[in-house]
Amino acid sequence: MSQPFDVNSSTSLDLDGNTKRSILDEARILAEAIVETVREPLLILDENLCVQSANQSFYQTFEVTPKENENQLIYELGNHQWDIPQLRHLLEHVLPDESQFDDFEVQHHFERIGRRTMLLNARALDRQGARPGLILLAIEDVTDRKRASEELKRIATELQRYTRELERSNGELQDFAYVVSHDLRAPLVNIQGFSKELALSCEPLRSVLAAAELPESKRRELSTLLDEDIPESLEFITTNATKMDGLLSGILRLARVGQAALTVRPLDISQMLSEIVASRQFAIEQAGASVNVDSLPTCQGDEMQINQVFSNLLDNALKYLDPNRPGVICVRGHEEPDRVIFSIADNGIGIEAQHQDSVYKVFHRLDPQRGTGEGLGLTIVQRILDRHRGKIWVESKVNEGSKFYLSLPKDAVNLEMT
Ligand code: ADP
Repeated sequence: MSQPFDVNSSTSLDLDGNTKRSILDEARILAEAIVETVREPLLILDENLCVQSANQSFYQTFEVTPKENENQLIYELGNHQWDIPQLRHLLEHVLPDESQFDDFEVQHHFERIGRRTMLLNARALDRQGARPGLILLAIEDVTDRKRASEELKRIATELQRYTRELERSNGELQDFAYVVSHDLRAPLVNIQGFSKELALSCEPLRSVLAAAELPESKRRELSTLLDEDIPESLEFITTNATKMDGLLSGILRLARVGQAALTVRPLDISQMLSEIVASRQFAIEQAGASVNVDSLPTCQGDEMQINQVFSNLLDNALKYLDPNRPGVICVRGHEEPDRVIFSIADNGIGIEAQHQDSVYKVFHRLDPQRGTGEGLGLTIVQRILDRHRGKIWVESKVNEGSKFYLSLPKDAVNLEMT
């Protein structure tokens, strides 16, 4: 408990009467000025709990006048709005026990200002000698703060609920994608197998047809069927089954990227890039391209997934080079206070401004005839970066090239939980 404030402490000094009075006057003026300046409503009560004085803030907050207040018992103020048993108990013990109380919460419907929540703090002011003490009562209106914090709590609970819901439906979607792509594989394998068998069955049919005695027109009709129509249909079935196979494995890869547990640790990206570039040396030479890798900062992440990000971006940079000029690919990186930024720039065909956001969509290819792929690479890259709380964006000009940027947070805390 803190010491009661002693308004007469100067009496202990050896001073003459006039000096004492002037010091006391000065102290009183100073104390009154402080009380007036304080933004919180303040009341000074005497030993009978009658109001000795109040500051402007008290009058403004409770919309009362000094006349209505002064010398009134606190319990009778404003239609007995302070007549609260627990407050009575506390106030009546402040002076006798030289005690104090802090943050006593009062929720009350005040006659003129409506329902409010107030925090009350009281201190005894010891005046020594024969004069009884006073009580300084500070009243803080915390209605808005309380409402705001309750609203914040409500929003946080709602957010948690939505996050859980989102996680659940995300999990369901991933399971669904996994099961669908897995289960559709079996009938697809059947289609591919039986197509091959059908193609093989055409061989004995051709021999039978060659040995058979048939009118010429019938033979031509059957030959066209066996040598052109059926192989063409089978070719069509096989091409589409292969395409579907690619799409299904893409969905499976996407589902796996979302499900795999992350093992986050510091990664030597320079080393990772030199391995990725080395493993693509043949493709780089074939493309007649040069790949320049700066010294890159380290970052936090799951090694396999971050490797997949850089591999995908480098493969794309190679795949979408412009055959009319020698390809140049540059990989750079730098650190910012709370994140690491990498860029993979090429001087390839570029991406039109209106397509720069859609390249991350599932199975989205801007020119399906150019290069191989399912339009899933950037979807997977974005998903991985999402899981690492990172970002990807692109700056690009058609016929000049593209520069893909990716950022990763420096702080790996909680990444394992994503
Ligand atoms: P994929 O390469 O398999 O088609 P991606 O998801 O990796 O799929 O890319 C989606 C599309 O974005 C590509 O089909 C291509 O049109 C475009 N794209 C990606 N990277 C580049 C690049 N470096 N330069 C030009 N276009 C690109």
